[in-house]
Amino acid sequence: MELRAYQGQRNHFISVISGQVKRVDNQLASQNWHPGKIINLSEMPSVPDARLSGKEPIFRTDHFSLDTNKKRMTTLDVLIIGAGAAGLMAARELAKAGKKVIILEARDRIGGRIHTLEAAGFSVPVETGAEFIHGDLPLTLQLLKEAGISHRAIGGETWRVEQGERQGEPASDDWSALIANLEKLDRDVPIAAFLDQHFGDDRYTSLRNSVRRYAEGYDAADPGRASALALLEEWTSDDDNQYRLPGGYGKLMDFLREESGAAGCRLRLSTVAEEIRWQPGRVEVVTNGRQRYVARRALVTVPLGVLQSETGSRGHLGFTPALPQKRAAAQAIGFGAAIKILLEFKVAFWEDGAFQEPQVRPMPGLGFLLSDAPVPTWWTQWPERTAVLTGWLAGPGAEKLRNTDENELLEKALDSLASLFCVRKAVLRDALRIGKVINWTADPFARGAYAYATVEAKEARKVLSQPVHDTLFFAGEALYEGPAGGTVEAALVSGRDAAKAISSGERGPSTE
Ligand SMILES: Cc1cc2nc3c(=O)[nH]c(=O)nc-3n(C[C@H](O)[C@H](O)[C@H](O)COP(=O)(O)OP(=O)(O)OC[C@H]3O[C@@H](n4cnc5c(N)ncnc54)[C@H](O)[C@@H]3O)c2cc1C
Repeated sequence: MELRAYQGQRNHFISVISGQVKRVDNQLASQNWHPGKIINLSEMPSVPDARLSGKEPIFRTDHFSLDTNKKRMTTLDVLIIGAGAAGLMAARELAKAGKKVIILEARDRIGGRIHTLEAAGFSVPVETGAEFIHGDLPLTLQLLKEAGISHRAIGGETWRVEQGERQGEPASDDWSALIANLEKLDRDVPIAAFLDQHFGDDRYTSLRNSVRRYAEGYDAADPGRASALALLEEWTSDDDNQYRLPGGYGKLMDFLREESGAAGCRLRLSTVAEEIRWQPGRVEVVTNGRQRYVARRALVTVPLGVLQSETGSRGHLGFTPALPQKRAAAQAIGFGAAIKILLEFKVAFWEDGAFQEPQVRPMPGLGFLLSDAPVPTWWTQWPERTAVLTGWLAGPGAEKLRNTDENELLEKALDSLASLFCVRKAVLRDALRIGKVINWTADPFARGAYAYATVEAKEARKVLSQPVHDTLFFAGEALYEGPAGGTVEAALVSGRDAAKAISSGERGPSTE
């Protein structure tokens, strides 16, 4: 069977399948189509499918609205690539503004780097990705209110353990000196270079270690690339409130999906966008199923790690013609690695030293545990009283473990806990109910945790945020400019702003 496709005029697009057009018309007639009804060829079994024929990909016409009276095709307004926080937020705004929108999502679920596990063997919902609301973040809190989703302040005590000993707070004089020196900087530099220059002396070893650990652990950043001025901004922001969503962040994603769906936006799961062929006013997205979706515009919300990925790697999204400026900009922003380890024990042993081990070190009221162990950061679900401990390894340390087997990572986690709580690993293993390792850096549709600011990031974000000929738009946490970088808030704001730009015609200068 010969398959051919061509474009007549811009935005007037028809798929011609030799010997098949007539059949499609007949099917339309027999299926009681009414003007404006969306044609969904996927519901028409007799239409040839390139996956079966192995030939040229077929155009899915579910992106066309066909007015059967005038025999005229109207293309879709926006194809959104990615159903994470940014994509879903944009979809809601665009669909509510009356745009015809389809989201193409590579995974078999929505949420992207937000993924709440509700029935995976844990006794409570657990977060494999985003977990905290890092401050009184306006858009996140507004959406939670709209959705009627509650959030709760986190708490508990922070323990610091280094070289086997409990440590106090880092010396505040050193921190004050660090901030004062950072405030004097007139040119941005990587934080590691800054420390070497200003705090290279031996008496600052502990300060240097704390700063490095903070940049790596919290920002998932490589201190050799992370912007000193961006870290200064983060450290001097006075919003210390932190919250968690008792039912999980997934509820917020479900809300956005429901809202966008109710406004007419459709979603294709398990659909990997492999290539965007574009020209001003028209995009054609080719997917892993060798299907093509056509629209006037595309909004690309894939993670920075995917934009940085090499041609041919799984999840990679190519552009034809290529976008060298965008690619260079994506490379200039940092994208940190992270591994999360979820462990549920039979008892919350840290509370009362449930183990009868001679040296056991209980940590009653534990909220966060910061340490120099191979898996250095741990937290509980405080104030919820559960027996779940979450381990966190981020930055270059996690990057090195990109290809490490999950069982090996679990062993590393248990080794760390054994040394921190002074119990034998075998005892911990016996007490373990369930464990799960999530290596986000190894995930082809994330390729890391979240973006961090490098010295070049400000300029690079500007380049990445500019639309290309009013046709290709970009959004996602990595493009956000503001105090909540690398968060869900960042993704939501970026998605909302991109939708606004598409709807309002506020295009800004074009790149490429
Ligand atoms: C382990 C971890 C912990 C975190 N903790 C927090 C936290 O506590 N608080 C916080 O605020 N933030 C946290 N974050 C960051 C937060 O999760 C992200 O900033 C936010 O979810 C990103 O949303 P996004 O829409 O920009 O990207 P994503 O959520 O990654 O969405 C992009 C979507 O694109 C899809 N995609 C990728 N490639 C393709 C393709 N080729 N074709 C089609 N679809 C594709 C992906 O599957 C994904 O669904 C954490 C992230 C991680 C990984």
